[in-house]
Amino acid sequence: MFEALSGKLNGVFDRLRRRGALSEADVSEALREVRIALLEADVALPVVKDIVNKVRERSVGQEVIRSVSPAQQVIKIVNDCLVEALGGGAPGTDGVEHVPGLSLNAAPPVAILMIGLQGSGKTTTSGKIALRLRTRDRKKVLLASLDVQRPAAQLQLETLAKQAGVTSLPIVKGQSPLEIAARAMQVARGELYDVVILDTAGRLSIDEELMAEVAAVKAATKPHESLLVVDAMTGQDAVNTARSFNERVGVTGIVMTRVDGDARGGAALSMRAVTGAPIKLLGAGEKLDALEDFHPDRIAGRILGMGDIVSLVERAAETIDKAEAEKLAAKMQKGQFDLEDYAAQLKQINKMGSLSGILGMLPGIGKLKSQLEGANLDNSILKRQAAIIGSMTPKERRSPEILKASRKRRIALGSGTTVQEVNRLLKQFDDMSVMMKRMNKLGQKGLMRGGLG
Ligand code: GDP
Repeated sequence: MFEALSGKLNGVFDRLRRRGALSEADVSEALREVRIALLEADVALPVVKDIVNKVRERSVGQEVIRSVSPAQQVIKIVNDCLVEALGGGAPGTDGVEHVPGLSLNAAPPVAILMIGLQGSGKTTTSGKIALRLRTRDRKKVLLASLDVQRPAAQLQLETLAKQAGVTSLPIVKGQSPLEIAARAMQVARGELYDVVILDTAGRLSIDEELMAEVAAVKAATKPHESLLVVDAMTGQDAVNTARSFNERVGVTGIVMTRVDGDARGGAALSMRAVTGAPIKLLGAGEKLDALEDFHPDRIAGRILGMGDIVSLVERAAETIDKAEAEKLAAKMQKGQFDLEDYAAQLKQINKMGSLSGILGMLPGIGKLKSQLEGANLDNSILKRQAAIIGSMTPKERRSPEILKASRKRRIALGSGTTVQEVNRLLKQFDDMSVMMKRMNKLGQKGLMRGGLG
């Protein structure tokens, strides 16, 4: 998500950084480019205007132009404004502060109502949430499909429940959605379930019948969370769908799916301002473990190419072991990350799923990623890079700066690659180190704890 926007903004900021001292005209020019980048990313116009105006006001107010590192200041202000647009920082229109992820803080059985159009990823997301609640939060979860429209829907949920290792409500033919919902709640109370996930029927488009059905189920079950699932790839349509649902039935949060295929990200940036409802979760793949909490500050970091070390490390902790992930995070923060660590990491990345999703979280790697995109980004690149590092001596891995032409030729030969590929790896590692150092400077001012300054 956000690759295109991220690339454009980084171009703008690279030019600003090269300038050193900034004039008011420089800032205006940069803001004009930021505005175009946001519009091209399909961010809603009022949201674009709001972000650009805020950045302008704050840049002037804080006398950015006369400060020692003006470009850095402008980037920080843009970062803050993105965090706000994404729902972080200040409370939303409803006066409620954004809390990432689900809220389960209620007496069990806690009901979660899943709402959305057909094909939005509602059923898959129900399975993902069930898996996460069972494995991460150790909850006893019951899944129930209220979809009596599509004959296959209830069977699909049954299959997903098996994959997630949770129970699905036995199918009783001929029951209405309300009857199924009542039976689910009864079973959940009787058999002491912690959470009941109710997957409602979708439609191809919003119609009154769908709204009425969802509203009736909501009134009967009084869910703790009413999650609206929308497809990020539908852009502003997703935002409009969310607005209609929120106005008609009221939702507690939005789940955006298919962010793995959405390069623009405009819907995510517009959602909070247009609908008032917070994004709580992201679906980033077809597999059941491809679910992320939505942290506005981390997402803003990803957009600005500062990477999302926190999410990366969390993902690592889920797939790898915790001690190793913590060691890695500490090394990254101290700037002691060397090629040895990088090689170990390459192996783990294979385990961690979608390569392009992971790359997006690494600082300074956005540019490389867009270069690779055409070249069929797959895991063979990881293997080649691992081979290159494998052909280095331990000393070379710790101090890559000693690598001159003859050593590079030897390494390329040894790994069955080319000097060009060796150079590319080293450049990438360099970019990463620079970005990490930059982040650490910011980190001391509070970036790593969420929100700059
Ligand atoms: P529903 O009609 O809303 O219940 O949609 P489904 O859950 O059946 O999902 C429709 C399709 O989208 C399926 O092929 C899913 O595998 C796919 N899908 C769901 N979520 C994601 C996601 O986050 N990323 C990707 N790439 N595919 C997804």
